Amino acid sequence: MTKEIITKNVEETQKLGESFVKSFKKKTGEKAIIVALEGDLGGGKTTFVQGMAVGLGAKEQITSPSFVLIKKYGIRNSRSRINSLRGKQGLGIRNFYHIDCYRLKKPWQLQELGLEEIINDPKNLVVIEWAERVEEILPKDKSVIKFEWVDENKRKIILNDRG
Ligand code: ADP
Ligand code: MG
Repeated sequence: MTKEIITKNVEETQKLGESFVKSFKKKTGEKAIIVALEGDLGGGKTTFVQGMAVGLGAKEQITSPSFVLIKKYGIRNSRSRINSLRGKQGLGIRNFYHIDCYRLKKPWQLQELGLEEIINDPKNLVVIEWAERVEEILPKDKSVIKFEWVDENKRKIILNDRG
């Protein structure tokens, strides 16, 4: 199912990221949850990730990981709204990985940084900016969200369901 939303300011995009993670269903897979963010520079990808972090109850504030490629955020059990909302075990997400491929030269650089191991751990939620640049090394089972610049304050955000 595809959903198209126009956000009219930063807060709306953040709220969308927040409600997106809160809508996750009970996890059954043996791998991490993968969320691929694609589309325009300034399209609101990092803004959306900030909202996801709020919804997850990440311990620190999200900054752009452009220079380090991968940033890892712990999720506090008590503060993690989706972990606490979904019963005792919740989704079991303990780590939030934020990856930004903007400055990536070759997809294998991500593998060198241990992407495979990160993906194979069901305790991880992995969000990837500029995911279209590393499409060939990402699992097929993922959510894909596209960001389009409409005008100075409007962004079109197209969500595709996982699976
Ligand atoms: P990306 O990570 O896709 O390059 P960012 O989230 O870093 O994009 O930046 C989005 C920029 O657009 C920010 O400077 C933000 O203030 C601005 N902006 C204006 N309107 C919106 C909106 N509706 N949603 C998100 N960002 C917006
Ligand atoms: Mg960004």
